[in-house]
Amino acid sequence: MATLGIPQNTIAVLQKYNFNFQKKFGQNFLIDTTVLDRIIEASQITKDDCVLEIGPGIGTMTQYLAERAREVIAVEIDKALIPILQDTLAEYDNVTVINDDILKVDINKIVQERNDGRPIKVVANLPYYITTPIIMGLFESHVPLKSITIMVQKEVADRMQVGPGTKDYGALSLAVQFYAKPQIVANVPPNCFIPRPNVGSAVIRLTRYEEPPVIVKNEQFMFALIRASFNQRRKTLVNGLGNASGLSVTKDQVVAALEEMGLSATIRGEVLTLEQFARLSNLLFDIRRGTMLN
Ligand code: SAM
Repeated sequence: MATLGIPQNTIAVLQKYNFNFQKKFGQNFLIDTTVLDRIIEASQITKDDCVLEIGPGIGTMTQYLAERAREVIAVEIDKALIPILQDTLAEYDNVTVINDDILKVDINKIVQERNDGRPIKVVANLPYYITTPIIMGLFESHVPLKSITIMVQKEVADRMQVGPGTKDYGALSLAVQFYAKPQIVANVPPNCFIPRPNVGSAVIRLTRYEEPPVIVKNEQFMFALIRASFNQRRKTLVNGLGNASGLSVTKDQVVAALEEMGLSATIRGEVLTLEQFARLSNLLFDIRRGTMLN
C-alpha cells in the first residue's frame, strides 16, 4: 500500500470507498509527509513500544507507527472507516483496530493485556471536539504512560504549555503540567489536512513525569481548587474560593492561608504557579480538616 500521506493516495482511498466525512467526529485527515515524519520523530517510538493511536482515520499515521513500533492498538469510533483500515493496514500483522469510542474504552485493561502493564506511548491526530477529556482521562485514570504526542488545535497547545501571567494560562495548563512536561514540536497549517480545519494546529509532546513536580496532600482537592480559581478569572482568590461550592473553605481561611504564604489577600489565581497552588491547597486542606474535626 502506497503511503497515504501523499494527497492523491488519500483521495484515491476516499473515492474507492465513497467515504463521507463526519463533522461530528472531527475528521480532518493528514496529507503531509513532512508533518507525519515530524510526529513520528517527536514520539521517539522504538521496536520495544506498544503504541495507542486514538482516531486512526484511514490509517495514514497508523502505517508509520506500525513500521516503527512493536505493536499498535488503534481505536476508531466511525464504523465506516473499519473496512478501509482493514484494507490500508492489510500488510501489517502488528496492528489491532478497535471500533469504539476512546472515552468508553478501558485503556488500563489494554495496557495490562498488551504490554504487561508497562508504560505505553500515545500518538494521535486528535478529534478537536474532545481533546481535553481525552488527555485528562489518560492522566486522571493513571494509565501507565511514557508520553503523549498529539496534534491539537494551536490555541489548546499554547494553553497546555504556558505559565502564570498570560491570558492562556488556566486549569488545563496546571493539570497538564502537574502530570507531564509539555513541548510544542511543530505548528501545522490548515492546508496539511483534508478537509481543511478552520483553525491552526500544533503537535505537542507531553512527557509523563515519573514523580509529580510538586507534593500534594490531596490531588482531587487541589484540582477542585484550581478549577474554582479560574471559574471566575477576574475575581480575587479570596472571593472566588471562599464559599465556592464543593470546596468547603471560608474567605477567612483563604486569607489565612495566603498570609501564611506571604501573598496578598487581593491576589488572583492567574498569577499563581503550580508550586503555589500545591502549597495553597495543602494549607487549606489542613485548615479545613482542622475545622471539620473540631
Ligand atoms: N489519524 C487520522 C489522520 O491523522 O489522518 C485521522 C485524524 S481525525 C483529526 C480524528 C479521528 O478520530 C477521526 O478518524 C475520527 O473518526 C476519530 N474519532 C473521533 N471521535 C472519536 C472517539 N470518541 N473515539 C475514537 N475515535 C474518534
